Amino acid sequence: MSFSNLGLSDKVVSAVEAAGYKTPTPIQEQAIPHVLARRDVLGIAQTGTGKTAAFVLPMLTMLEKGRARARMPRTLILEPTRELAAQVVEAFEKYGANHKLNVALIIGGVSFGDQDVKLTRGVDVLIATPGRLLDHSERGRLLLSGVELLIIDEADRMLDMGFIPDIERIGKLVPFTRQTLFFTATMPSEIQRIADNFLHNPVRVEVSKPATAATTITQGQVATGRDAAEKRETLRRLLRSADNFKNAIIFCNRKREVALLHKSLVSHGFNAVALHGDLDQSARTAALEAFRKGDAKLLIASDVAARGLDIPAVSHVFNFDVPHHPDDYVHRIGRTGRAGLTGTAITLVAPIDVKSVGAIEKLMGMPIPWMGEPAATEGAATEESPRGERKPGERPPRKDQHAERAPRERGPRRERSPRNERPPQADRPPQSERPPQQPRQEPPRAAKPAPRPDARPPARPRQEAMDDADGSHLPAFLLRPVTIKA
Ligand code: AMP
Repeated sequence: MSFSNLGLSDKVVSAVEAAGYKTPTPIQEQAIPHVLARRDVLGIAQTGTGKTAAFVLPMLTMLEKGRARARMPRTLILEPTRELAAQVVEAFEKYGANHKLNVALIIGGVSFGDQDVKLTRGVDVLIATPGRLLDHSERGRLLLSGVELLIIDEADRMLDMGFIPDIERIGKLVPFTRQTLFFTATMPSEIQRIADNFLHNPVRVEVSKPATAATTITQGQVATGRDAAEKRETLRRLLRSADNFKNAIIFCNRKREVALLHKSLVSHGFNAVALHGDLDQSARTAALEAFRKGDAKLLIASDVAARGLDIPAVSHVFNFDVPHHPDDYVHRIGRTGRAGLTGTAITLVAPIDVKSVGAIEKLMGMPIPWMGEPAATEGAATEESPRGERKPGERPPRKDQHAERAPRERGPRRERSPRNERPPQADRPPQSERPPQQPRQEPPRAAKPAPRPDARPPARPRQEAMDDADGSHLPAFLLRPVTIKA
């Protein structure tokens, strides 16, 4: 199969050839003809499968006919993070080299003014994060009633980040008759529900998880102490002794840990940059750029910030923290060993992490070999902390309010206050880091100190309290008020 057999226009085929691609990837081969036939598509695929081109290439072909009108984009692509949105813009620049299309990027963290000017000029392709898009729409600067094609990318990540209410609102602003492409790496029931809502008689296209790519990745786990300083020392030792080292992404579970580790590595003479949600947009862009160009050899990142980023040819991935979700492990190690290259993924494992690693091994259906002495047994972990009592696969409770774990676990996002009560738009926190929306709450059971503005929202309603991964492991009956008779 070649690109010229998929029904793409000549302009697109020549741009793809110029990009050096010889054959379509499975998702491209399966999805492109259906997109061109104006069918809705449900694509189950992860980053690294070529899914961006699977929608960008047919879009370019389709957009060759017609013209954009001011403030009425013809197509809309929703991305969960600014970096992913920016990456899609790059794809349009690359594959759309032979086209004259207006592509606009509408993301948080940058000024409204320039975005407004772009919208006024008329936009063929609008690539946006949901919150900023709604901000423009609510200000009356953007009309979505001309959208012919809607793409929801990384839908499961949208769910993790609490964007589903925003996506549903956007769904009501675009025409019912539009075509929709919906991409997700996993299909939890909530995503299935959204897909059922958004898609009409879709073609389902599924490509395998990058877990299969793990054949090109050498994995290992290295025992370390639980203490952060000890872990940093272990990491430095591994970095200094790594074979075939070119560059590495080091994953931490928390933003705060990313910042600390970055500072520590730099002070030990390592050439490192950090990527986490508390950094402003220019710092995030600069960090990524430095790493992509090879100016920085180490990128320390959190899952949310790094998910889906296309960073080619990473030789090593280090898990400074064992990820809370086994799925995240697969995503993390998938940053190396891409496109047939070999890679190494090493996970630092303290006694408390042994069970979590067990859950990862179960998911992958293969053991992760120890490099050196194994960590102490689970028994030791149980003694160390109540967290050791977790069952394999269970997420540890989070004490750190800065943890960059998925807001899904923190409860859905709080409904926004009416526009006139909002803080100035430009000052709103970056979209991808805004606090989750909150459903209607039961009245509080006991007086609590007012939460800090950046603190996590209160726990979800009682029924969920028992299994709330945020640490509310109280059985529901304990939350009921008790009347003590005299
Ligand atoms: P994506 O899954 O869209 O993030 O794409 C992952 C990487 O694969 C990107 O670096 C693309 O440039 C690259 N890519 C996309 N399509 C192809 C193809 N047909 N052949 C080779 N590489 C590709």
